[in-house]
Amino acid sequence: MDSAESCLLQLRCTNCGQRWPADTVQTTCPSCGRVLFAEYDLEERARRAMTPKALVQRSWTLWRYAELLPVRNPVHRLTLGEGGTPLIPSMRFAEYLGLKHLWWKDEGQNPTGSFKARGQAAAISRARELGVRVVALPSAGNAAAAMSAYAARAGMRAIVFMPADTPPAMPAECRAYGAHVFLVHGLISDCGQLVRRGSEQFGWLDVSTLREPYRAEGKKTLGFELAEQLGWQLPDVIIYPTGGGTGIVGMWKAFSELESLGLIGSHRPRFVMVQAEGCAPLVEAFHRGTRHATPWEHAQTLAPGIRVPSAIGDYLILDAVRASHGIAVTVSDQEILDGMVRLARFEGIFTAPEAGATVAALMKLRETGEITAETSVVCFLTGTGLKHIDLIAGDYPVLDPSSPDEALAYVASVLQEAGKG
Ligand SMILES: *Cc1c(COP(=O)(O)O)cnc(C)c1O
Repeated sequence: MDSAESCLLQLRCTNCGQRWPADTVQTTCPSCGRVLFAEYDLEERARRAMTPKALVQRSWTLWRYAELLPVRNPVHRLTLGEGGTPLIPSMRFAEYLGLKHLWWKDEGQNPTGSFKARGQAAAISRARELGVRVVALPSAGNAAAAMSAYAARAGMRAIVFMPADTPPAMPAECRAYGAHVFLVHGLISDCGQLVRRGSEQFGWLDVSTLREPYRAEGKKTLGFELAEQLGWQLPDVIIYPTGGGTGIVGMWKAFSELESLGLIGSHRPRFVMVQAEGCAPLVEAFHRGTRHATPWEHAQTLAPGIRVPSAIGDYLILDAVRASHGIAVTVSDQEILDGMVRLARFEGIFTAPEAGATVAALMKLRETGEITAETSVVCFLTGTGLKHIDLIAGDYPVLDPSSPDEALAYVASVLQEAGKG
């Protein structure tokens, strides 16, 4: 069913424009060191094959878009059910903010609990097809978990480097999948240095964000899916918590490919790029008007996925946000926590702190009037809250079941107290 042929042609450097063969292992541009993008036969083959009618027959994983994914032999398409996440219409939160068209794209429902599964499903499948045996990456947690899971499925060795203060659920999850986990005293950028050296010395494939070409391909399915779920229309505004930036970069590429296929028009949503006050290199560069960002010193935020002091794809992110007439905002850790709690209480969705940042940005833009009652908005909830229970947990009353009357009198007093608030 999802045995459609990939229309992959070659790789092309997003900076110097040079083309490279796609059927050997590539990382960054051999000529200038910047980001390589996959190119497809869009106008002819993909246009003919990937029609809305053909899609209806296919299952809801990201492989439904196989024509525009890099894996040629269906045997190598690893799947754990990634993609096909629900686009949930907001109920109480939309009402609270006075918005008529608000949706949540709940990426926490992916395998390994975040949208990182999309990128790793594509990257590890393609690496397997090209004969790679060992993969490594620096990660704030979710990318490592996803890589480890798909590497386990592929029978590959996975090596993971994480900041030592990563929430403990992340390394535990990687260990469960059989990855070799190393904690590093430092930030994700320090982990990245180790991976780059290690890859040179030992021949691991470095699957760092945008340092190999296919994670972005998996992530662009966020954009395909959104368009398809909205009946080949796009919203006015997309809010996205931005770290390494593959989400925004991938969606931007997706929209342009869909336009080449004739599935959407030239209208584009405005991207809202959200970063934390304690680590906002891209927001700063956006406002300064430069094409590259300055590495952020002493990066600090409780949302690990957006604690990224410098991104190799900074120019791609900034170009996309600008071309979309987008907006760049920062939010504080307190606002992030508040966003998580509100979303859980209003909508029943327990998200990662990065998604709390999305919610916080939504509230800010509603307040400033950039988002009005009529604006259609999609908020990306990039991960599950279940790996971050330390941010929510408190002390719970403990009851003694041997004196039930006393216990229940205590329960009644607590509920009465809560009712007053
Ligand atoms: C990695 C991550 C992000 C950042 O996404 P990019 O597309 O790399 O900018 C946001 N949220 C979560 C939960 C993440 O794991």
